[in-house]
Amino acid sequence: MHVGIIGCGQLARMMALAGWDMGLRFSFLASEGESTTCVQGLGNIVLHTPGHTAEQVYQDLGQPDVVTVERERVDYALLRGLADHCAVHPNADAVEACGDRFREKQLLDSAELPSAPYAIAETAQDVRAAAQSLGLPVVVKSPTEGYDGKQQWHLLTEKQLEAFCEENPPGAWLVESRVAFEREVSMIAARSADGDVTLYPPTENRHRDGILLTSIAPAADMGPLHEKACQYISTLLEAMDYVGVLAMESFVTADALLINELAPRVHNSGHWTMHGEVSSQFENHLRAILGMSLGATQTSRCHGMINILGGYDQRGTLLSLSRDARLTDYNKSHRPLRKLAHINVCSASRENVEEQLLSLHDQLYSGSTPAV
Ligand code: AMP
Repeated sequence: MHVGIIGCGQLARMMALAGWDMGLRFSFLASEGESTTCVQGLGNIVLHTPGHTAEQVYQDLGQPDVVTVERERVDYALLRGLADHCAVHPNADAVEACGDRFREKQLLDSAELPSAPYAIAETAQDVRAAAQSLGLPVVVKSPTEGYDGKQQWHLLTEKQLEAFCEENPPGAWLVESRVAFEREVSMIAARSADGDVTLYPPTENRHRDGILLTSIAPAADMGPLHEKACQYISTLLEAMDYVGVLAMESFVTADALLINELAPRVHNSGHWTMHGEVSSQFENHLRAILGMSLGATQTSRCHGMINILGGYDQRGTLLSLSRDARLTDYNKSHRPLRKLAHINVCSASRENVEEQLLSLHDQLYSGSTPAV
């Protein structure tokens, strides 16, 4: 079987490496200017140029059996066009529904699922009015630009609100209440073509400056919110008639789970599954989109993951990893704060995983933050 992947980043790389073990072939669609080093040697790489029709893309990819996506920004018309030639999973409507923050909020509202209170603003006056009605602090986000906390402003004071309004041109902004969360948790779930759903245990994520730094799974006991998290993601999978892996990032407050973001693909917070006693998120995504039954997702051990970001001298740490640690490198050129690799650790004891993550964090990030 042949899988075409839209995008050439580390998620495409890890999916292809999992798929090679399953006897699959791959091809990759790159946008103009997109780096392809992650997928070099893993299959045919096709450059998507303006005017390239869906039929041509399908032929150039080598007539894949199924096409899937690995990155944030996707040409939805292309996805819809490709669906005339082969299977496309997840479907274009689902990818589009998760593709910008306004649509995501609409989807959550229509499914009656909770997220941070929000308003949509176009002018500085709208942003002020939204901040007034929601109450400071607020977070202003671009609907489409931005990942890893980019294009996102946390406005805590009137002064910061005014500065934002003066410095930013009118446009379209999502103004959201700033949630005083206790922790951030993501759910990763897979849904097969015949509607079977399987969920990995919730993963607890710690970010720095909006960038995911570490994950630990299973997340510490969430009480009744665990059941809610399972219900929410299952509802979304059904509502979108979704096939493949979906990630749902949420804020955990004292008494609620608020959904922050959906990713219609495999996700950084699911990288720990690569070295668990489970089928990895990459394998399960492939199994789902190829019409296969799904693999195991439950684990009796504790798993941790730490991202390796560019801009720090990390050679010493990588040369002396512990026996429990497994390194996955993405074959990317170094840039400050770019995600270059990750390390997974695993143990029967949660304390031990926490200690290992802390120690790796101190070794990897002891220098000052690099300028981006
Ligand atoms: P996002 O790009 O929406 O995933 O946001 C990146 C990170 O910014 C999140 O993981 C949170 O740590 C933080 N963040 C985003 N939105 C909010 C919010 N409404 N309240 C508090 N923190 C937020």
